Amino acid sequence: MKDVLILGSTGSIGEQALDVIGRSPELRVAGLSAGSSWKRLVEQAEAAGAGSIALADAGAAAAARDSGWTGTVLAGEEGIRDLIARTEPDVVLNAIVGSAGLGPTIATLSEGIELALANKESLVVGGELVMALAEASGARILPVDSEHSALHQLVRSEPPGVVERLVLTASGGPFRGRTDLGGVTREEALAHPTWEMGGKITIDSATLMNKGLELIEAHHLFAVPYERIDVVVHPQSLIHSLITLVDGAMLAHLGHPDMRVPIAYALHGPDRIELPVEPLDLAAVGALTFEEPDADAFPCLRLAREAGMAAGMAPCVLNAANEVAVGAFLAGEIPFTGIPEVVERVLESTPAPAPTHFADLFECDAEARRRAAEQLQTVAATPNGSAG
Ligand code: NDP
Repeated sequence: MKDVLILGSTGSIGEQALDVIGRSPELRVAGLSAGSSWKRLVEQAEAAGAGSIALADAGAAAAARDSGWTGTVLAGEEGIRDLIARTEPDVVLNAIVGSAGLGPTIATLSEGIELALANKESLVVGGELVMALAEASGARILPVDSEHSALHQLVRSEPPGVVERLVLTASGGPFRGRTDLGGVTREEALAHPTWEMGGKITIDSATLMNKGLELIEAHHLFAVPYERIDVVVHPQSLIHSLITLVDGAMLAHLGHPDMRVPIAYALHGPDRIELPVEPLDLAAVGALTFEEPDADAFPCLRLAREAGMAAGMAPCVLNAANEVAVGAFLAGEIPFTGIPEVVERVLESTPAPAPTHFADLFECDAEARRRAAEQLQTVAATPNGSAG
């Protein structure tokens, strides 16, 4: 029996992880956490037979305690860290959204516990230090992101020195092929053509920042320089990533887009379980197409690549500014095109030396958020179109 602690269980990945665990007699839920959705969290804990939960929001934790549920309810960021220590899981699935996932990633690896990582922001913000911590503690990091799960499966079967390039596929998002993005609405941006996901990653997919964050994630997970990681738009989202080998061969990972596949692989791999996912009918698919990302219409991908290559805490600044800008776009405060504008301005103005300790990252994240908040007014006032 393997005990799994799911952080962010009320979200898109968290719910799908519970579905996978429900199909796996050898997996058991050790505990669950959320931000503020306490009713759903208590329901999930009851259904899974978990005795401990944590909520980042103290008020929500108090409401869960008052609800009559008899399990243990922990509160705040510290409560989530305590949940990791208290439940002693075999694996933590970190499906928290945003840089709020970094603290739990550090806590998990510090305890030497295996980490199934959906929270890509942990590696974007803290790449070098997080990978060094995993190395020092001996805890494995198993990718949950579909592209990185695909790459992990492709790379692991090759001997050292033969993988020349990694190729990340991108759906292109709802605005692929468009160049006039100033006036697009929140609803249009939230309508992803191939994947059903939480709001923040859906907007990141529409700006292509998601692919930029994945580029940085891949660089750290597979220790491959940025010059050897390509991004190609593949609108069907059926190839999840590819690798190029020294002999010119390319290997690809294909399947219908369903996050339960990479989640199950992270929790069971290298074993596999049966899932209700139809195999691809290639004749019905007919054609797989590829195109270059449009660097002018989607500057976020370039900004992420530049921040990754600049290293230091530039990716931390990029991520913090992006989280603030995406929040502002979703709140109707800035237009869609304001997102890369805010990110670029904050990147230009925020010092980003190499971090020595994790504390440097938390300080840099807070400073970049402060500067991004300042930029919102300026960007909202540009003549680029009305806010979404
Ligand atoms: P969702 O927004 O659907 O869910 C986020 C989860 O995090 C919820 O449980 C939420 O709780 C919790 N949460 C929010 N804020 C905090 C906080 N401050 N502290 C603790 N917990 C918090 O996100 P997704 O499931 O879409 O994405 C989760 C992560 O997985 C992201 O990093 C994303 O990039 C990555 N990912 C997602 C994919 C997908 O298909 N969705 C695919 C690949 C990667 P509450 O419900 O209370 O708000």
